[in-house]
Amino acid sequence: MSALFDRYAQQLAERAAQDLIRVRRVAASPTAPRQVIDGVEKLLFCSNDYLGLADHPELIAALQEGAARWGVGSGASHLISGHSQAHEALEAQLARWARDCIPDARALTLCTGYMANLALLTGLGDREDAELFSERLNHASLIDGARLARARKSIYADLDQLEGQLRASTAPTKLIVTDAVFSMDGHLAPLRELLALAERFDALLLVDDAHGFGVLGPHGHGSLAHSGLRSERLVWMGTLGKAAGVAGAFIAAHPTLIEWLLQTSRPTIFTTASPPALAHALVTSLALIEGEEGERRRDQLDLLRAQLVDGLAPIAAARGWQLPRSDTPIQPLIVGENAAALALSARLDAQGLRVPAIRPPTVPAGTARLRITLCADHEAQEIDDLLAALVAST
Ligand SMILES: *Cc1c(COP(=O)(O)O)cnc(C)c1O
Repeated sequence: MSALFDRYAQQLAERAAQDLIRVRRVAASPTAPRQVIDGVEKLLFCSNDYLGLADHPELIAALQEGAARWGVGSGASHLISGHSQAHEALEAQLARWARDCIPDARALTLCTGYMANLALLTGLGDREDAELFSERLNHASLIDGARLARARKSIYADLDQLEGQLRASTAPTKLIVTDAVFSMDGHLAPLRELLALAERFDALLLVDDAHGFGVLGPHGHGSLAHSGLRSERLVWMGTLGKAAGVAGAFIAAHPTLIEWLLQTSRPTIFTTASPPALAHALVTSLALIEGEEGERRRDQLDLLRAQLVDGLAPIAAARGWQLPRSDTPIQPLIVGENAAALALSARLDAQGLRVPAIRPPTVPAGTARLRITLCADHEAQEIDDLLAALVAST
């Protein structure tokens, strides 16, 4: 082998020695609680399709209708010729949702949440005299956005530390950045307190609602509405490939900020617009989320979550595992060491269940865990199956 590859091969070997190698499994059926993976039907507790919309007949029909109406590709970026009436309609719906919390909000759609966060942080933090205040547990895409932004950066672990950092800052533009729901923990950020600090120190509050959108709040309108917030200094980002069941993301904010992003933000300008058929399907997804079907699915999630937590508590207590409080369909079971989490996940896998082990760097060292996620399409019996398999695995 050429020496060109030696360094990478050696680093891969080091990762393998630390139980950090990840593998992709190949699905042979649509996203659902029961899915054929690597040729075997598994019961999954790992997707972010919380409402079970990814394989919903109405959404499949909407995507087919969208393809018949709009074809497949968008052909160009939004600013050239890729922006369709379907994108406009989707942005109008999202802006309407956002106006629960952000007066006069306007919305912008992007191809992925990862790109939306790069767009947000580089777009709003692209000044050396700006300062970003980023929560320690934020998603990798927010961390990468902060790395690319020219603004100064501070990382905070709690509200007290953030307050101290805000007080010490002389930056004319201050941006507080947080996940609404921490993706590996399932709990909500203290959004009211964060907004109070933003108001006191004249900052913007950027909230990544990847895991709250569609799940939390009245009509599934997300974490800001759930927390009853209202302010023009809120910037709301959400993803459309999780509870919404399709793909993509959006940013909603004061119209001046949206216009600024549209004019300047490189991840929106230098990329091909997502297929209009996806935007077309997403309009149907939003209607499902807001309507009776969405209510029913959110109620179902609440029931499943209560059943899961009740069943997990004694198991975790007996094994010395931690079961942190979660506000969402994400329930972590913290095992500790990488090898122990991997072994537990493997024993579940052997029993036909897929519950992935999450290891550093996704979570802090020493907190390797199973990340259990629920879908409204899970059945009560399947929760019992998971609990029984966990008991059998130790
Ligand atoms: C999944 C996720 C993203 C990225 O969204 P994609 O559309 O999958 O690129 C961003 N932020 C958080 C908190 C996420 O969980």
